[in-house]
This record gives sequence, structure tokens and C-alpha cells, in this order.
Amino acid sequence: MVSIERFLGEPGHIIDGVRVAASDGGTLPVEDPATGEVFASIAAGTPADVDRAVASARAAFRDGRWSRLPGIERGRILTRLAALIRDHAEELAELETRDTGHPIGDARFDVADTAHHFEYYAGLAGKSVGQAHQLANGQLLNVVHVPAGVVGAINPWNFPIAGAGLKGGPILASGNSMVMKPSNLTSLSTLAVAELAIEAGLPPGVFNVVTGSGSVVGGAIARHPDVDIVSFTGGTETGMQVMRDRADVGRRVQLELGGKSPTIVFEDADLDEAVPAAAFGIFMNQGQNCSAGSRILVQASIHDRFVEALTARAAAIRVLPPFDPRAQQGALISGEHLAKVDGWVQRAVADGARVTTGGRRLTDAPFAGGHFYPPTVLADVTPDAAVFQEEVFGPVVVVVPFTDEAEAIALANATRYGLAASVWSADIRRAMRVGAAIDTGFLWINTINSHPIEAPFGGVKDSGFGREEGLAAIENYMVQRSIIVGGDRFVDPYAD
Ligand code: NAD
Repeated sequence: MVSIERFLGEPGHIIDGVRVAASDGGTLPVEDPATGEVFASIAAGTPADVDRAVASARAAFRDGRWSRLPGIERGRILTRLAALIRDHAEELAELETRDTGHPIGDARFDVADTAHHFEYYAGLAGKSVGQAHQLANGQLLNVVHVPAGVVGAINPWNFPIAGAGLKGGPILASGNSMVMKPSNLTSLSTLAVAELAIEAGLPPGVFNVVTGSGSVVGGAIARHPDVDIVSFTGGTETGMQVMRDRADVGRRVQLELGGKSPTIVFEDADLDEAVPAAAFGIFMNQGQNCSAGSRILVQASIHDRFVEALTARAAAIRVLPPFDPRAQQGALISGEHLAKVDGWVQRAVADGARVTTGGRRLTDAPFAGGHFYPPTVLADVTPDAAVFQEEVFGPVVVVVPFTDEAEAIALANATRYGLAASVWSADIRRAMRVGAAIDTGFLWINTINSHPIEAPFGGVKDSGFGREEGLAAIENYMVQRSIIVGGDRFVDPYAD
């Protein structure tokens, strides 16, 4: 183990390049989900803290210390930030595992992914080109892409450090200033990345972080008229509240929300591949993944065989304390969340579902005090059951049979969500035909959980709108400005 002390520090926000306490000195405890131990605290932000951070971001944006730097210089600083993240990779991974309960191997992956995001977007800084049109009367129209201004970035708790890179990379590369609000459950790694950004040479006021409760800090960001865009990732109901708050001030919002993504397996699929893929689709990150394949739709002819194989695969996943290097699944984020996950399972059972593996929290050593729930498979679930319709956001999957393509499509589209879908078949034409008919922003064919940085990510229906990742993310955070240069001499319209 390395020391994570450096990144614990005094509880505080990062505003104007320095750590500052909450305006009223308030703090919130930080719990290790694997042990239940409180090991740190964060500042409990207030609306006054948000005002201060937004003012700092606005001042930085206006004076051009970042927004008007040449793109290549912004890119150089973001590349330096990525290098610092890689230099501190082990400390950051341990901090993340302590804060989230993620297996240490997954946390290492997430830290590298965060660096990767800053590297990718560093390369795009200053490369957003507009258009030029020669108009009548000698006028010249230039459409340029300029940074939007101050961006409020609100993140959930499931991939905290990765979220800091996923939003921070494109927001900063495009020349904006930002106020980032991580989840109160998982703020430490975002504060660490902001501190490394300052070390990398990012000017003060460009990357502010305000920690604290969602409704207080997140609400103040959403309702702030001087925040030009809010980029929100989180639950659907919260996102809708954020959108209402944005509507009150008439400012932009982008929403990445929940999901209930289908994995569709046809009888001709190679089950040696499809079964572990379907298991990974749901159980990765303890099932706390917005695009988790939480509904497996299986052709009836192979249903029983599939359930049996999936049950065996799920039961063999190594649930262990997250610092154990063999851990494949760690702890859920909190006791409250675990109770919700378990509540969904118990309600499903009451509605007639059959638990083929899992279904009870783990409490014996080495899990005592922590929030551990095993991979859980539910069969005999009907499409009208709540557990088929609603996001559980835990290691719980339902398996439902279908007879033909039409039924597979109907079942896939039978929820309010539309974030991701995965189709498995040896017949590529069929897989593409079925995939094309699914309401989804992200479609995998004979693969799952692949999130290349180049691929714009986001949903349809109640999964939100707007796209992150790839070139699309840069467009999110810029505005088009039309500049018309006069050609022929201006004629006085009032002259008679
Ligand atoms: P959440 O909606 O409770 O919180 C998300 C963030 O919003 C947190 O920082 C929270 O503090 C803040 N918040 C809470 N109330 C707020 C309010 N009234 N105004 C403004 N901000 C507020 O979500 P969560 O429990 O942290 O994360 C889980 C959810 O996030 C799941 O539904 C999951 O599907 C979704 N998610 C979606 C994506 C995606 O890309 N579509 C990615 C990850 C997670």
C-alpha cells in the first residue's frame, strides 16, 4: 500500500486554485464502503460557496488566462495533468478504492482511463474549426466555435475519478472554466485531480470543485444564471429536477441519466462467449453502471441452458474486500444503497421471481461492517414486474425468454429507458436488424461494455440527451458564433 495521506488534506473545496473550507465551516464524513469506517471528511458546501466558485470561474474565463490561450498550450497543460495522474496512479487508485469499494484492479483501470481522457482531449484543444461563407454584397460570414463560458459539471458516485476526466477533459480542452461537483459519497479523487491540475499549470479559477450535498450544492449550480451549461450525470429523477432548475434560469443542460439496458441473446449465439459477456455486462463495477445490461432477454429454446450457465458464472465471480488483488467484485457504495438493492430483490421474489444465485447480502467475515451483495440472477420475471422496468443499480439481473425477433425487440423497448443494448447472434444481419429497432443511444453487437473514447455516449427516452466522449463532447461545451464582415460600403438605410 502507498500513502493516500497527501490527497486527504483538510476538508475543503478547490476554489481559485486553493483549498478553502465551507463558508460555514461545515463538513461531511467519508465512509469506506468495504468496512463502514469513517476515514476522512469533506467540506459541506453552501450556496455561498457555489457563488464564490462560479465567480472565480467567470473571472478566469473573462480575463482569458485559459480561454484565450492557444489550443496547443492548453493541450500541453492537460497532457502534463495526465502525466501527473499516471505518476500518482497507485495513490489515486488506493484513494478511489477506499472511497468507493471498487476492486483495486478496477480502480487502477479507472485512473489510467482518467489520464487517457485528458490526453485525448489535450490533442483536440484548439482544433474545433468553423466555416467560412462568401455571401452576397461582398460580405464574409465566419462561423467560429467559442467556449461556452462557465460549465457546471455534476457527477454521480459510480465512477468518480473517471467522471472527472470524462467531463473535465472536453470542458477544459474547449477553453471553458468549470465548477465540478462530485457526489458527496465520492469526492476525494476529484479533489485530487483538481490539485494535480494546478500542479500541472492550470491557472487558478479554471478547475473549481465544490463538494457537499446534492440538493444544496448541485441545486445551487443548476439554478445559477451565471453557469452557462450544466452537464449532469446521475439518476433520472434528479436529472429532471436539474432540468426544471435550468428552465427557471433559461440556461443549457445536458443529461446523462439512468438505464435498464437489454442484452439480447439468440439461440445461434456462441454461449461460451455470450454467457460470460452477459455476466460482465451486468456485474462489472458491482452492477453500479448506468449502461449495465440489467435485463437479459434470451431465446426461449436456450433459456434454461442459459440460466444454468449464467448462474454458474455469476456464482463463481470472486466477491472480496476490494484491496484483495483477487477481487472481481467489491463493495456497494453505501448501506443505504445496499438496502435499496436488496429491497428490489425481495420485492421481485414477492412478485414471483426465482433467485438462482445470490439474493442475500454478505455479512460474515471478511464482509462484516461493509456493504457487500453477491451477483444475483432472477429468473421467472415478467415484463410488467418493477424489477424488469426500473433501474436497480446493483449486481442484480433479470432473465426473460422471448420467442422471435419481434418479441425480442418489443421486450427490449418495453421500458422508459434507452441508454445501451447488446445483441448476440451468429447471424450478423439479424443482429443488425434487431439492433436497429431498439431505442438506444449505444448499441453493441456481439460485444458488451466496450466504451472506446471515440464513441459518443448518451441515451434516448428517460436516459437523457446530449453526448459525451469523442468529438461530440467538444461540441457540447462550445457555442457557434457567426461573424459577418462587411463587404460593399454600408449604405445609409435612412438616406432618402
Ligand atoms: P444522483 O442523481 O443521486 O446524483 C448525481 C449527482 O447529482 C450527485 O453529485 C448528487 O450529489 C447530485 N444531486 C443530487 N440532487 C441534486 C439536485 N437536486 N440538483 C443537482 N444535483 C443534485 O445519482 P447517483 O446516485 O449519484 O448515481 C447513480 C445514477 O447515475 C444512476 O441512475 C445511474 O444510472 C446514473 N448514471 C448515469 C450515467 C450516464 O452516463 N447515463 C453514468 C453514471 C451514472
